[in-house]
Amino acid sequence: MTQHIHKFRRIDIGKDVPHWVMQCQLPGCNHYTSMVSKLSVPALVGKVSVCNSCGDRFQLDRRALRQAKPTCNACIQTPQKKELDKAAKFFEKLAKTNLG
Ligand SMILES: [Zn+2]
Ligand SMILES: [Zn+2]
Repeated sequence: MTQHIHKFRRIDIGKDVPHWVMQCQLPGCNHYTSMVSKLSVPALVGKVSVCNSCGDRFQLDRRALRQAKPTCNACIQTPQKKELDKAAKFFEKLAKTNLG
C-alpha cells in the first residue's frame, strides 16, 4: 500500500490486562505502536501525524500523546482560534475588496 502519514487514536487491545496502543485509524492501515502507559508513548514523540481535529500534519509531542485522539497545537490552545482566524482573514479580504 502507499505511504501515508498515520492518524492515531488511543485504544485498548488488551484482553485480561489493559494494553494501550496508538493505532492508525486510516482505512487499510493496521499500524499501531504500543504505549508504555495509558498516557505515555515515547516511541511516537517527534513523529509526524495527522491532527484529529483539523487534518493538518503536525509533530507529536507528550502533550498531544496524552489525548485519546491527538490534535495539533493550533487546535488544542484555543479550539475556536482557527475559526476566528479564518473569519478575521475573510473580513480583511472583504475590506480590501471594498476599497477597490
Ligand atoms: Zn496508517
Ligand atoms: Zn489541528
